[in-house]
Amino acid sequence: DLPDLTPNRQPEDPDAALRPKSLAEFVGQEAARDNLRIFIEAARGRGEAMDHVLFFGPPGLGKTTLAQIVAKELGVGFRATSGPVIAKAGDLAALLTNLEPHDVLFIDEIHRLNPVVEEVLYPAMEDRALDIIIGEGPSARSVRIDLPPFTLVGATTRQGLLTTPLRDRFGIPVRLNFYTVPELERVVTRGAGLLDMKIHPDGAREIARRARGTPRVAGRLMRRVRDFAHVAGDGVVTAKVADDALTRLEVDRLGLDAMDRRYLTMIADIYKGGPVGVETLAAGLSEPRDTVEEVIEPYLIQMGLVARTARGRCLNDSAWVHLEKKPPAPSGA
Ligand code: ADP
Repeated sequence: DLPDLTPNRQPEDPDAALRPKSLAEFVGQEAARDNLRIFIEAARGRGEAMDHVLFFGPPGLGKTTLAQIVAKELGVGFRATSGPVIAKAGDLAALLTNLEPHDVLFIDEIHRLNPVVEEVLYPAMEDRALDIIIGEGPSARSVRIDLPPFTLVGATTRQGLLTTPLRDRFGIPVRLNFYTVPELERVVTRGAGLLDMKIHPDGAREIARRARGTPRVAGRLMRRVRDFAHVAGDGVVTAKVADDALTRLEVDRLGLDAMDRRYLTMIADIYKGGPVGVETLAAGLSEPRDTVEEVIEPYLIQMGLVARTARGRCLNDSAWVHLEKKPPAPSGA
């Protein structure tokens, strides 16, 4: 029975131990860090709340971590919640009215806010005010409550998932990209130090190469490889130990996991390389369409294995090579 290596967050959050605590400690995402550093300094200098920030990018790239770092570097309090958790307008009102001046309020999966709750957020973000309706029927009246100045930090997998009015209210949109192998090597080396793990540079490189461009995956693979090194060897992670462990975990040379390969194999075997619609693929994989589009596909597209076309998903030549399969002969040939 294979461990779950998908980059979704797990409830117990084993990531917490590896979270960088400052912008300087945060590896990679240079453009994002440079921008944030300037906005943080400016807000501190003026003694104001920083403008609202939207982080977008695939899961596990550091959105939550950066939100915490922003609060820390601003020297303000940090409150976290997530879109689906805020059921009623009153829940959001309670959160907002309890903030201290200049606090950061982090809303993960902000694209999943209920539309009624989202409406409350607009004046809160724009005018730092809440419009509350008191009473019912003809005697109902609207009361405006002032809020302390605060910074909303939202996170989502794709900017396009947000409604336009919500997206427009973020002054600082920040896109996070997949990490390069050298960046992930630094993530692994740093993590190994924190986890008290003995690792060779070529062991770190092997894990980095197979971490799907994602620090959260790198952290998970490191813990697995460490266990393996203790059971199967002297506890030292060499390239060989890492390769053996990752192969047993069915993480292949490109870092693709079992689900990635099921996705590619399905397009190859059943749909002759595509095009095939995402709904059809999601049904065939028994995964929600969101998971296919936001978790599985971004990395496969980034690797050039799959293309999104107007008519559906298609395998590129490199995917056939990777699967060691022959593409079907062109029709009519
Ligand atoms: P997201 O919110 O985008 O899903 P997280 O911020 O929860 O991702 O990051 C997942 C884990 O990956 C973190 O706990 C941290 O250990 C690690 N991580 C993310 N970004 C970095 C980074 N730039 N440097 C080092 N570790 C990182």
